[in-house]
Amino acid sequence: MSVPAGQHTVRRHNLALVLGEVAGPEPLSRAGVAARTGLTRGTVSSLVEELIAAGLVTELAAARGGPGRPASPLRLDPRGPGGLGLEVGVDSVRACVVDLTGAVRVQRTVASDHRDDVPDAALARLAALATDVVAEAGLPIAGATVALPGVVGPNGVLERAPNLPRWVDVAVGDALSTRLRGLPVRAGNEADLAALAERWAGGPTDAIVVSGGIGVGAGILLDGGLFAGAGGRAGEIGHVVVEPDGLECHCGGRGCLETLASLEALARPDAVRAAGRALGIALTGAVHLLDVPAVVLGGGYPRCGAPLLGAVRAELAARVFSRAGIDVRFSTLGQDAALRGAATAMVQAVLADPGEVITARPLARPPDVAEGGAPRPATVRGAGP
Ligand SMILES: [Zn+2]
Repeated sequence: MSVPAGQHTVRRHNLALVLGEVAGPEPLSRAGVAARTGLTRGTVSSLVEELIAAGLVTELAAARGGPGRPASPLRLDPRGPGGLGLEVGVDSVRACVVDLTGAVRVQRTVASDHRDDVPDAALARLAALATDVVAEAGLPIAGATVALPGVVGPNGVLERAPNLPRWVDVAVGDALSTRLRGLPVRAGNEADLAALAERWAGGPTDAIVVSGGIGVGAGILLDGGLFAGAGGRAGEIGHVVVEPDGLECHCGGRGCLETLASLEALARPDAVRAAGRALGIALTGAVHLLDVPAVVLGGGYPRCGAPLLGAVRAELAARVFSRAGIDVRFSTLGQDAALRGAATAMVQAVLADPGEVITARPLARPPDVAEGGAPRPATVRGAGP
């Protein structure tokens, strides 16, 4: 059956509209969705049937007690397509599966130091871990996003990672996709994905989200979205110079924020005040340029506790000339933020355009064999040599 292009576009738009209402905080019936969207009940019912058939929505038993016919609330189907989040850290690989409702189904971390490693070995380890995690979650997977500790260009290529000197111009998404039997894999900067995770977890719409780890990066949230810069490379706050004659940095520069505020720098005695001061100086510049009212300190920073938070707050209070003051807080997601953001990015993509998932059926099944990994158990369909 062929459908005119205009009608097809309208239907796709309406699928997203209905799914967006179902995903909202308030449980709605078909009639409730019709009232909220302005679509007819007949149209809503037909769209809901399509979303149920695609495994995206489920209809619960009718609630009793009120006047008139009892209404059946709709909700996102937790058995529907989930998102696979992957992360290459400087000293670990991580994977998690988040279902459509945003619940974490499985999450694993494997220690694996990549500072002297070539990409291939780490990617094989990550693909094997991904395969295990997907098999354990038992959900169809809509796609994966991999969080990377470096500069990721708009084409998903990791251009450089100051703490991974042998990773230069690596097409990480493509390499993982090949190892995961063609599962679509996007790549993003870990600090950007951490910033989105903060936003999706109910955090501020306009903020600089700093991730402190072996490296230091930031994601910039403006108006609820990520500000990526002209080439997707915004937020490299770790290489903002705070001491022009300071220590040498892995990036080749000198006196970068990272030399004073990485977790390694923070492990030195009496380092918290210096780190807080350096963060305050770099963030003052960023806040003055971008006019954002909030700063979230994430990654490993929350573990540094009140002394670090107090030092950053004091620096910003003394230096920024905003009347309202800057809201400086610790992340509640901490070191899980980038991984959660990576997995949730796929779920958000499904919610934003369910028509894409429906058109692309059958969905990518859980990958059954990763290169270098063990064959998967028989519960996964399509296993073979
Ligand atoms: Zn640097």
